[in-house]
Amino acid sequence: MPTLVMKFGGTSVANLDRIRRAAKRVGVEVAKGYDVIVIVSAMSGKTNELVGWVNETSPLFDAREYDAVVSSGENVTAGLMALTLQEMDVPARSWQGWQVPLKTSSAHSQARIEEIGTENINAKFGEGMKVAVVAGFQGISEEGRITTLGRGGSDTTAVAFAAAFGAERCDIYTDVDGIYTTDPRICQKARKLDKIALEEMLELASLGAKVLQTRSVEMAMRHKVKLRVLSSFEEQSDEAGTLVCDEDEIMETNVVAGVAYSRDEAQMTLLSVADRPGIAATIFGKLSDAGVNVDMIVQDNSEDGRTNMTFSLPIDQVKRAETAMNEIRGADLNFDSLVVDSEVAKVSVVGIGMRSQSGVAAKMFKVLSDEGVNIKVITTSEIKISVLVDRKYMELAVQALHDAFELEKAS
Ligand code: ADP
Ligand code: ASP
Ligand code: MG
Repeated sequence: MPTLVMKFGGTSVANLDRIRRAAKRVGVEVAKGYDVIVIVSAMSGKTNELVGWVNETSPLFDAREYDAVVSSGENVTAGLMALTLQEMDVPARSWQGWQVPLKTSSAHSQARIEEIGTENINAKFGEGMKVAVVAGFQGISEEGRITTLGRGGSDTTAVAFAAAFGAERCDIYTDVDGIYTTDPRICQKARKLDKIALEEMLELASLGAKVLQTRSVEMAMRHKVKLRVLSSFEEQSDEAGTLVCDEDEIMETNVVAGVAYSRDEAQMTLLSVADRPGIAATIFGKLSDAGVNVDMIVQDNSEDGRTNMTFSLPIDQVKRAETAMNEIRGADLNFDSLVVDSEVAKVSVVGIGMRSQSGVAAKMFKVLSDEGVNIKVITTSEIKISVLVDRKYMELAVQALHDAFELEKAS
């Protein structure tokens, strides 16, 4: 039998009615002759609630227990989805990560998938089971502890299952009807794309477009998984949603394919650091050891042998970064002071067309300057330009860039 993976995100399983609606979609695919692997998220809001409980109980929590708690939301929806399917006379059962087994690294709360055992589920398909409902976001470490894959990790579970079972396609059902030129919730003119290149989606995801977890896109690229994003709220045809595909499957695109933003950024500056060989290695080595994900970096010109070093980081890592920097403040790094700005956001434009067309950066900077938005830090790569701006200008910047690059129009 051909296999299909269908993933339902939090809003698509937010209550029993929605689970029933999702189960009906699954039933349609079963009727077409597929063996279906359904990956479910926790009900929307559940994971946040669980994270909150952990933080309240133990601010410096044991990450293994964090995972034990936070993974539980998916167990509930997996069981309920299996029951709903059974009520519809579709042979189904639920699987928690450890039962599959989905083996991961031991990096609790950020674990990486190492292996998915296909035997147990295939044996059940062989016995007539039509749907395996798998709890997303969770796995088991070598030590036998429950792990989780990072926020949004059910997307990665879904793509990994599609790769492991050689699925015909991996359908990600969510609360928007596809991938848009930017987040439709902050830009009314956002346009739904029929197709987007994997490379562009990878950049958009890593720059903040949470519609897909970055690692799910990486995995789809590596294992050549056919990936589609579509709505669980609408009647679907085979062409619905957005296909995330190789760039050569797309005829013509705009130079800029999309605009992404990341609201929860902070900027940290070490003022007056002694400018000598090795300071960058010392600073960023220490930050990396502390598990801080530094993104943009700027080093000022040196004056009298001293310089300022600025970098951006996720806002929830500021405390960790401050501690790390203060630890090497003395003899290693005698900087004057540490300045933190927690009111910044990152806005990025992404497009494969930038490889061959110049002037995108100049246009981006002009648009922002016309809107009176000050740029604090800039980084570029072959297919993206990112700027750090004051958070209060983030939405304005996204909308102005969407207008200026005429993303509401197809090329
Ligand atoms: P799920 O719970 O189904 O995993 P998420 O909330 O993780 O859903 O992701 C879907 C959300 O991603 C949308 O509601 C939308 O606000 C946001 N989003 C951000 N950027 C984009 C984009 N370019 N296209 C579509 N949705 C986007
Ligand atoms: N429930 C998890 C989260 O909210 C995983 C997911 O939904 O993808 O992050
Ligand atoms: Mg998600």
